[in-house]
Amino acid sequence: NVIDPLAAITLTPIATVFSPYKEKFAIPRQPNLVNCAQGKVVFIGTANNEELLRGIEQFSHLWLIFIFHGTQAQGWKPLVRPPRLGGNKKLGVLATRSTFRPNPIGMSVVKLERVIQLSDGNVELHISGLDLLDGTPIIDIKPYIPYSDALTDAEAGFAQHQPIAPLTVTFNAQAKKTLAEISVQYPQLTLLIEQVLAQDPRPAYKRNKLDDKCYGMTLYDLDIQWQMSSLQAIEVIAILKK
Ligand code: SAM
Repeated sequence: NVIDPLAAITLTPIATVFSPYKEKFAIPRQPNLVNCAQGKVVFIGTANNEELLRGIEQFSHLWLIFIFHGTQAQGWKPLVRPPRLGGNKKLGVLATRSTFRPNPIGMSVVKLERVIQLSDGNVELHISGLDLLDGTPIIDIKPYIPYSDALTDAEAGFAQHQPIAPLTVTFNAQAKKTLAEISVQYPQLTLLIEQVLAQDPRPAYKRNKLDDKCYGMTLYDLDIQWQMSSLQAIEVIAILKK
């Protein structure tokens, strides 16, 4: 029973992620930095079978193992520049959480909010705290087991702590008016924008630097425009339907 160690392995996605993050820019750099972000996992193919999920509701958190489908086509290199090192220091790709890996596989712990039984017999997982692009293919799900997965005394080198102190986020009068008008359709939007922007989504070399550029990010089908208003604060200046 000899297996060629270099033989390709074929994996078939078991589910697709529905996420408010429709483009890479401004997605948090790890899960649970933006804990109000809500998404869902919808099962497909032969995995679309409630038996695979029996008992999963006992777990508050899950590991999602997924494919970095949005960057997969760009390939990989042995050395990468982690954003939090300012983009000017190279480390081995396997010493980082870069998306550009030999096998483009990611892993995120997310909160399991609800298991939804649909009338057609299918099941969906409602999750929060995700750091995933809309449409991310899931190749495996495992329960998060704190006694073994949470190692609070672990050393994590350049990634020991959260990257930055959260920025303050304010909304101008026009943005507040739009938020009020669309609050029924997007009930948690204000908090989601605040938590996403508090992470300072700009490229890492701009951290702690003021610039007057007008930035845009897409959440759901909305174009959220914002500017730095001080070194520690961001102002949202417009919210537009795309
Ligand atoms: N928690 C995961 C891990 O450690 O494997 C992902 C960490 S990675 C640094 C997080 C970034 O991956 C996000 O900020 C986003 O830009 C990017 N990302 C998320 N989903 C993606 C996808 N499906 N394809 C490509 N990039 C993705």
